[in-house]
Parts: sequence; C-alpha cells; structure tokens
Amino acid sequence: MTSFTSNNVAVQQAFPAVWQVSGVTGTTPQGRPLQAWQIDLVTSGCLLLILGATHGDEPESHWLVNQWMHHWGELTREAKGVVAIPCLNPDGLALNTRQNANGVDLNRNFPTANWSQATDSLEKELGHPYYGGPTAASEPETQWLMDVLEAYQPKIVLSVHTPYKVVNWDGPPHAQSLAEAVGTVTGYPVTHDIGYPTPGSFGTYVGIERGIPVITLELPEESPDVLWAANKTVPQACLEWIESNR
Ligand SMILES: [Zn+2]
Repeated sequence: MTSFTSNNVAVQQAFPAVWQVSGVTGTTPQGRPLQAWQIDLVTSGCLLLILGATHGDEPESHWLVNQWMHHWGELTREAKGVVAIPCLNPDGLALNTRQNANGVDLNRNFPTANWSQATDSLEKELGHPYYGGPTAASEPETQWLMDVLEAYQPKIVLSVHTPYKVVNWDGPPHAQSLAEAVGTVTGYPVTHDIGYPTPGSFGTYVGIERGIPVITLELPEESPDVLWAANKTVPQACLEWIESNR
C-alpha cells in the first residue's frame, strides 16, 4: 500500500496560503497530533467537513483526502467553507489496524443512544475488530472529532472509507439526493442501508442524532489512478449540492 502513503506536512508546505491549520487540537494515545485544516470559513462558515482514515487499515481514504487538498484549486471554483481531516486515526494508520492504538473501532465509539447495543456480545470485548471501547466517547480521537463538530457546525459531512464501493447516507431525508449526486460522480451504487447495525457510529451520531447529512463514501480497492478518476470532483459535487439546497 506504499502508493497510498502521503503526509500532512507536505500539504501544509505545498499550500500554506490555502489550507490553514485548525486551532482545535488533539493527541492520539501514542502521542500523534490530530489535525484539521480549513479554507476560508469567514464568509460562509463550514459548509463541508471531509473526514479520512477513521480506520487505520484504509490508507486509500487518507490518500484521497490529501489528493483533494493538494489539487483543491483545480477542482473547485470557489474554495471556501471547507474543513478537512485527512486522518482521524494516525496511530491505526501507522500500525495498519482498523482500530486505534487502544484497540477501539472509532466508528463504534461515538456517544449515541444505541452505543451499548452491540449485536454480537464479542463486540463488547477488547480484541474484536468492532470493539466500541470501555465507555462511549472513551477515545481521544472521538472526543477530538466531537470538538471539531462543535466548533465548526458543518452543513454536511463527507466521510471516506474502503472497500465496499458504495455511497451510503445518514441524516434527514434530503441527504439521499446528496448521496445520489456523489453516486452520479463516482459511478458507485447508492444505498441507505449497509445491511448491519452500527451502534456508536459516526453516521448515527452526526446524521441521525444531529440531523446533519453524512455521506459515507466507500472506495473500492483500486489503483490510485482509477480512484482519482472516479472521485476527484466529489467535493465539488458536494459544494454544488449545498448551493442548490440552501
Ligand atoms: Zn472504514
């Protein structure tokens, strides 16, 4: 997977005038910084929050968010109102694990009403790939992303994963049309139900419980060239959707 490696420092050095480091800071269990980057929030607030690498064994998602940041000026007519998090789980990315360094699946650790309702009792045990943590929001990465959401109040969220090649959505009914817009760009199927319960998931926390449209973009395991061709204009499609749904 070395073709998908990249780093945030390079983004900052390449486009320091475009992407500004967020003041909302956090630190992982292994001491790595958690960082968000922002573009011109003055005129519009945060329209779009982009999230990569919730799962550390999905480096394509980290790579794609970095690619969007590098090529932002070419891809969007108006570069404003965006916050990007290339990697929510830098410890997991370094360890090549789905979970963070504490063994917690961050996408099961959000303090939702259904947090404790793991369908398989093994999911309540450390060592299970979907282990949701000892308590809801136990993990520093989860707490930090909650702080980011509180600070920026995004209008929509785009969360990137692998490997299912599908566009999933959570949130109010009109989020479906956003998912369809992303599906049109990517050519990936659009679905509302991924077929299994996800207690404590980010989509439940943000989409269902806070009413913010959340798109989960599940990339297929393809080469960088193929992924880029299918996904490069996804952020633009999201911003255009916001423009036409004000
Ligand atoms: Zn994932």
